[in-house]
Amino acid sequence: MQVSEKCIVSIHYTLTDKEGDVLDSSEGKEPLHYLHGASNIIPGLEKELAGKSTGDQLNVVVSPTDGYGERQEQLVQEVPRTAFDGVDHIAPGMQFEAQTEGGPMHVVVTEVTEDTVTVDGNHPLAGQELNFEVSVEQVREATEEEVSHGHPHEGSSAH
Ligand code: ZN
Repeated sequence: MQVSEKCIVSIHYTLTDKEGDVLDSSEGKEPLHYLHGASNIIPGLEKELAGKSTGDQLNVVVSPTDGYGERQEQLVQEVPRTAFDGVDHIAPGMQFEAQTEGGPMHVVVTEVTEDTVTVDGNHPLAGQELNFEVSVEQVREATEEEVSHGHPHEGSSAH
């Protein structure tokens, strides 16, 4: 069957950046399962998978707007070092859940000075052009329960 709304699609994928460096891959792991039409995956990829069938292979170039969005500089913030009281050692690359007015936000520490810590709430892949090499492993109809939950009930993310 062809990929369309209310299908559970299983894909293997390799994601590379502009330079060809591998950022993520399902190789050697279970394929990624998603519910088509439910925004489980980024729009640029979902769009290209529509109409494909088991065994199809495709290369998709996804622009930031169809991927993880453009980088937003207002998501980069300098906060006082005292906001991290209780954390012994803060270094660039560390990740935290920050409590913001809009709810919890995942941030990465990008710079640390004596008095301040700079955190970045952008998705690590924001602003990047992404290249996906995808193979369609399986397409099946979603169950009613899966459609009502908005996600597949197989694989490690099932709940
Ligand atoms: Zn569920």
